Amino acid sequence: MKIGGLIKFTLIDFPGRPAAVVFTQGCNFRCRYCHNPELVYPHLFAEPVAEEEIDAFLKRRQGTLEGVVVSGGEPTLHEDLPQFLAKLKAMGYAVKLDTNGTRPDMLKQLIQDKLVDFIAMDLKAPLDKYALITGVEFNPAVLRESMDLIRQSGLGYEFRTTYDKEVLTDADIAAISQSVDGKHFRVQECLPVAKEKAALKVLHQEI
Ligand code: SF4
Repeated sequence: MKIGGLIKFTLIDFPGRPAAVVFTQGCNFRCRYCHNPELVYPHLFAEPVAEEEIDAFLKRRQGTLEGVVVSGGEPTLHEDLPQFLAKLKAMGYAVKLDTNGTRPDMLKQLIQDKLVDFIAMDLKAPLDKYALITGVEFNPAVLRESMDLIRQSGLGYEFRTTYDKEVLTDADIAAISQSVDGKHFRVQECLPVAKEKAALKVLHQEI
């Protein structure tokens, strides 16, 4: 795993659990509002954090933290994600995965192997507007497959949309909500990027 940062404690990123957040490097999208360009554009990558450092930190926090959120970047691009999550589970942590939904094959494996407890998937836009947000062309059928897997998983889950008002309309938000029957759906404010970039730099210093 290429790990680009760590939040050591959060009460807001894993529903009902005090948690840490691990950020993986690399993403297959180029979202226009991305808060974490240092995790997306290879030329901005910092030296990855050694997995052993993450392991040691999480061992020290056993009994204090209950969960680990694995976010990115896009975690499912990492072929060794199952092994990393298995380590977290072996330490007794509940695992939440944040994903853009483009790797249903990986999601299926993680669900089947009981390596994840909660999944949050971004729904960036109605399908015909997706590339306007993500900046890349891809087969949208993978998103439907991921949505179905998540809804049928029996796990906790959430779909969420960042409301970029320069691209999306109220009607778009309503259409996205309808596509998931309005269930487990949340709209996020589109935050200025600069503030988030500054926050990520602090993460690198804290480890
Ligand atoms: S999917 Fe997430 S990490 Fe990737 S570019 Fe979009 S906002 Fe950034």
